[in-house]
Amino acid sequence: MKERIRRIDLTRDFEKHREEYLAAIAKVCGETAFSGGKYADAFDREFAASVGSRYACGVNNGTSALHLAMLALGVGPGDEVIVPANTYIATAWGVTYTGAVPVFADCCADTWEIDPLSVEERITERTRGIIGVHLYGQPFAYNRIREIADRHGLFVVEDCAQAHGARYEGRNVGTLGEMGCFSFYPGKNLYAFGEGGSVTCDKEEYFRHICRLKNQGCDVRYYHDEVGYNMRLEGIQGAVLSVSLKYLPQWTARRREIGRRYQREIRNPLLAMQAHPDNTEPVYHLFVVTVTDREDFMQYMENENVECNMHYPVPCHLQKAYACLGYGPGDCPNAEYLAAHCVTLPLFPEMREDEVDRVIALCNAYGRQR
Ligand SMILES: *Cc1c(COP(=O)(O)O)cnc(C)c1O
Repeated sequence: MKERIRRIDLTRDFEKHREEYLAAIAKVCGETAFSGGKYADAFDREFAASVGSRYACGVNNGTSALHLAMLALGVGPGDEVIVPANTYIATAWGVTYTGAVPVFADCCADTWEIDPLSVEERITERTRGIIGVHLYGQPFAYNRIREIADRHGLFVVEDCAQAHGARYEGRNVGTLGEMGCFSFYPGKNLYAFGEGGSVTCDKEEYFRHICRLKNQGCDVRYYHDEVGYNMRLEGIQGAVLSVSLKYLPQWTARRREIGRRYQREIRNPLLAMQAHPDNTEPVYHLFVVTVTDREDFMQYMENENVECNMHYPVPCHLQKAYACLGYGPGDCPNAEYLAAHCVTLPLFPEMREDEVDRVIALCNAYGRQR
């Protein structure tokens, strides 16, 4: 049996930069700067600079980033926010936590990103804004979403959890909408040794509000001006992220190299891929293909000792948690097709060239073996 190829293997990064990571963690421990503090703040400044936004506010995870962004925009009970049906569920949680209702839009059949036509159809007098997701590291059609939002007086928030470093018409994601929400969950393009997230924005008012909300509702310690949350970024995560951030450009370059090889060299009519419009520079967080007989393909890859998985097998509008919203099959047909046929191939920066070769060869041989 050939050596297993994992979908993602973070141990290779840790082994490569072990001393540097451990030294960064030791420094935080030596100064007991554990919750928020110097190292979390330093990372905020570095991350804002790398995104190109005026501010970045570190938080305890990406779900909180979305939640606090909604609160800072005044979203609450009685409001609706349009989100794509094909995303990680946390995009919708951010809306639900405020008491507002997420309204699910379908995706485009080619890019698999939020469909502007579907968004427009779902606007009501309760709609406050739109959260677009740069899904799989591919920027969504921001200009078209912005145009619709402006016409209806809505906000646009970017869910950048899968797209650190991606660009849309030469601009970094996280600088396009009112705010950008990032996750540093292990496995994301930039990741903490635990949980982490950040909200980027240019407006001081949003930044100050999010800083207060994540910090128990206070600007001055023990004086609570509003009901807040404990959602600070941990010092250890900030220190680790400052190390990782230096490597992000080279990780992104390697992801692009692998992603483009898959795009160019996988030639099998049984596998379909995501479209990448010319005005975008994706970062290949996940390399997803669709296959008519998914079970069969996944079993084939497993037999060859290659690990694949699915992002995501159930679209948000059909999740049990949202049964109360009354959606049914057929409401978001493209998202439903994707959920039923998607397979994620192995892709991570430390993947070796011989492993990439093997995945490509297997994909090309699929269906020709019988
Ligand atoms: C990972 C992810 C989130 C949530 O981030 P956490 O840090 O896991 O809370 C939100 N949206 C998308 C699209 C994600 O991929």
